[in-house]
Amino acid sequence: MFSIKNLAILLAIFNVTHSLTLDQTNGCDSTTCILPDCLCMNTTPPMGLNLEEIPQMVFMTFDDAVSNWMYPTYEKIFGNRTNPNGCDISMTFFVTHLGTNYQLVNEFFNRGHEIASHSVSHKDDYPYWMNNSIAFWEREAGRQREIITTYSNIPMDQIQGFRTPYLQTGGDATFTALQNLGINFDSSLSTKNFMDPPIWPFTMDYGVTHECMVPPCSVETHPGLWDIPVINFQSGENGTVCNTPDFLCFPSYANLTASEVFDFFIFNYERYNKTRAPFNIYQHIYWLANSQEVLQGFLQFIDFLLSLDHVYFVPVSKGIEWIRNPLTLAQMTNNDVFGCDPSSNNREPVPCPEPQVCYYPESVPGGEQNMGSCVPCPSEYPWLDV
Ligand SMILES: [Zn+2]
Repeated sequence: MFSIKNLAILLAIFNVTHSLTLDQTNGCDSTTCILPDCLCMNTTPPMGLNLEEIPQMVFMTFDDAVSNWMYPTYEKIFGNRTNPNGCDISMTFFVTHLGTNYQLVNEFFNRGHEIASHSVSHKDDYPYWMNNSIAFWEREAGRQREIITTYSNIPMDQIQGFRTPYLQTGGDATFTALQNLGINFDSSLSTKNFMDPPIWPFTMDYGVTHECMVPPCSVETHPGLWDIPVINFQSGENGTVCNTPDFLCFPSYANLTASEVFDFFIFNYERYNKTRAPFNIYQHIYWLANSQEVLQGFLQFIDFLLSLDHVYFVPVSKGIEWIRNPLTLAQMTNNDVFGCDPSSNNREPVPCPEPQVCYYPESVPGGEQNMGSCVPCPSEYPWLDV
C-alpha cells in the first residue's frame, strides 16, 4: 500500500536525482558549461556519476594566523590520521599575517596541507572590506600570497585560494581581483538555501548562483573562478543555522560535551549523503584548543568518518582537481588523485633554508612583532606596503 512515508521517500529520491533548473542557476546550461573549466551549480555529482561510486570529500578549513600555540592541537587532529588510501589526511589553511609563524606554514605545506590567502591585515572593520576597489583587494589578497611565498618559501602558484576576513566580500571587486591575481578559488560565500541538499562547488561563469547572504552582492560573471560555498550548519532539527560552529552555532561552547559536539557534526554530515558534495567545515582552531570536550567530540567525528572507506579529507585544491576530472572510487585505486607522493601532485618538498625568528620592536600595524621566517629577516615587519 502506498503510504505518506513512501511518498516522502519518493520525493527525497526525486530531490537528489534531479539537477537544479536553469532558473536556479541563472541560465547555466550543463550542456554548454562543461568540465574541466566550467561547472554549473548543482546538487548532483559532476559528469553524471552515481553517488555510491564517488568519494565523499571533506574540506577541513581553518582560518587566521598559524602560530606556535596552536601546534599541539593541530597535531592531535592530523598528526596520526590517514585517508582510506593510507595517506595522511590534509586540509586547507586560510592564513592571515599578524602572528603567523612562516616556518610552521612551511612545515604544514610539506606535510601535504594547502596554504591559501586570508588577507594581510584582517582588519576588524566591515566597511573597510565592503566598500573598496579591485586594487585594494588585489593588495590584501595578493600581498599576503607574496608574504607567504617569501617567508615560507612556498611557490606562489601553489597558493591557489582565498577567503575574505569575516566572510565579508566587496562583491565583484573581490572576485575580479582574484581573477586578476590568477587565484583559482574563493571560499567566502555562505549559503543556507542550498544546504539541504548541499550544492557542489561550481565556477562563476554564470555569476554567483546561490543567494547572497552578506552584501555587497556579486552581480557579474567571473569565468573559471571556483566558488567553494560555505554551506551552513544547523544545531539539530529546528536549531540555529550558522556558517561556523565555533562562535555562531555555539557562542558558549565551553559547556558543550564531547557527545554533543559529535552529534552536531554527524547531524550535519548526514545531509551530504544526499549529494556527496564536499563537506566544507569552516572553523577556527581556538574552540578546539580551548575545550577538551569540543576537541574530543570533533576527533571522534573525524575517526567515525575515516572508518568509512569512501571519505577523504583533502585540501580544497585537490578537491577541485578531482571535480575537474572526476574518478570513481574504483578508478582511484589505479589513478589516485589523493595519493601521498608529492611529485604526483606537482608538489616537491620546499626547504626552509635559513629558519629564524625575526623581532621588531615597532611595526606598521602597531607594537612589537615576532615572525618565524624561512629566510633572513627583512629590515621591517612585512605589511601591505612594506
Ligand atoms: Zn579570519
